[in-house]
Amino acid sequence: MKALPILHAALDDARLTFRSRPALEAHQRRLAHEHLRWVAAHSPAVAARFRAAGLPLSRWPELPPTTKAQMLATFDTLNTAGVTLAQALNTARRAEQTRDFTPRLPTPRGPVTVGLSTGTSGTQGVFLVGEAEQARWAGTVLRALLPGGWRGLTRRHRVAFFLRADSPLYRSVGSRWLDFRFFDLLRPVAELARELTAYRPTLIVGPPAVLRAVQDQGAGVQAERVVSVAEVLDPDDAGHLRAWGPVVQVYQATEGLLALPCEHGELHLTEAHVHFDLEAVGGGLVRPVITDLRRRVQPFVRHRLDDLLRLHPEPCPCGRAARRVAAIVGRQDDALHLPGPGGAPVTIWPDFLRGALSAVPGLRDYRAEQTGAATLTLALDPCTPDLGTQALAEVRAALRRSGADPAQVTLSTVPLLPLPPGTKRRRVSRARPLAPEVTP
Ligand SMILES: [Zn+2]
Repeated sequence: MKALPILHAALDDARLTFRSRPALEAHQRRLAHEHLRWVAAHSPAVAARFRAAGLPLSRWPELPPTTKAQMLATFDTLNTAGVTLAQALNTARRAEQTRDFTPRLPTPRGPVTVGLSTGTSGTQGVFLVGEAEQARWAGTVLRALLPGGWRGLTRRHRVAFFLRADSPLYRSVGSRWLDFRFFDLLRPVAELARELTAYRPTLIVGPPAVLRAVQDQGAGVQAERVVSVAEVLDPDDAGHLRAWGPVVQVYQATEGLLALPCEHGELHLTEAHVHFDLEAVGGGLVRPVITDLRRRVQPFVRHRLDDLLRLHPEPCPCGRAARRVAAIVGRQDDALHLPGPGGAPVTIWPDFLRGALSAVPGLRDYRAEQTGAATLTLALDPCTPDLGTQALAEVRAALRRSGADPAQVTLSTVPLLPLPPGTKRRRVSRARPLAPEVTP
């Protein structure tokens, strides 16, 4: 990966900070016009969707949205690099097994990087990224994350990355201004803590659960920024991690880089590159339908995400026109369905329970899982009778506030067991029958 295209992308990105909504929307329309013409000409699956809907390209905002399952079902004719789902899955899985983290496939459009999403339930996502797209990604991330923006590149930074797999996407930003150290999540936490302390990073990037575990093992560092990735950042984790430096979060999914922090630490949708339609699902929550206005190798056109967001109603003091995310509430799959006063199930969003359990003093960690139609198990650390009583009281109050009837819900507490190394943590979830594996 060369540094020049990355710097170019970082500079270009600086130009793309919009202060007015009409200017941002005009920019999106310009990008969409060019991009969709190219995509429809090269991706048979996208062209077929327009034909099936009877819509010309100019009416793309009306195209019925696709889901991840539909995306995977048409993968072979959706991507424009001629990669089949079987090839992509084999390449990515082999890379994870051998821990050779530069899985690339030669294609007529140049080398393409293959990755798997780290989702723990449902269907595993697959992504393909071309070289130019990778440079754009790296430039955008660097500019947003480096203290001082792209000017931060004039100083040397030491970046500690805690990742499940040493993603080539992240590694690609390495250059002489930047030193990258990869901390493998499968190694013992005490060892990671010692190495992190000795490395003296200026920037720390990782899933909040892992960073907390490393911090609990006594890692003492002063970084310029701590960046939460891959999991929802809970307020209590953010509070603890602030001992290392200012904490920000990045919202990235298989479907792309979706939101980045501004200089005020607020999360903004990446609207200079991705168009977001936001479907209201009740309770002040929205579900994004994205159209990526840049990615050509694996196009995302009117693609519905599983994540639910809460937007911030006020503009950000930074002045950006890109909308501001108040909370990534979680996956819609993780919402609980518990009986309401009439017996009919009521939806309880994960952040309600996270908020309730974050309020229990002395509770280090927890998981809440719905294990039956009316049963909810709280795994607590530590699991003392006192904390158990308080946790149950907070959860009952949260259920009542969400419109459920706590009297009809069987609640129990158990000690929290450590997660297997490298597993993605979900603090609130609903047990469900295993979704069928993708077998190409
Ligand atoms: Zn802002």
